[in-house]
Amino acid sequence: MKGAASVHCARPGCAKPAPPALSRVELCLDHFLDEAFVRTDQALARCREGSPLTKDSLEWLLSDALATVKNLEESADEPKPEQRDRMLELLLILANLHEYVAHHSVRVEHPA
Ligand SMILES: [Zn+2]
Repeated sequence: MKGAASVHCARPGCAKPAPPALSRVELCLDHFLDEAFVRTDQALARCREGSPLTKDSLEWLLSDALATVKNLEESADEPKPEQRDRMLELLLILANLHEYVAHHSVRVEHPA
């Protein structure tokens, strides 16, 4: 078991420390943002083409990712301006997705 203080990003070639809000997923801030943008893009694309979203991905985006970004905003030690911009952009995209899901009949796949 490692100590709580030394969680590092699990992406190959990346040795940046994972902030406390991301220690569970073992990602640094940059890689978390990359991942979140990819997943929100995919989810919005599926919404637009009327494909069902999986319950897991929807939950990840609308609760985990949102909570993590809020947590990061409060606890991040001085994010760089470009990281801050990306975090704000991600919050906007997540808000859009939230709206979309609330106002369109987005089909959610429930595993059988
Ligand atoms: Zn990383």
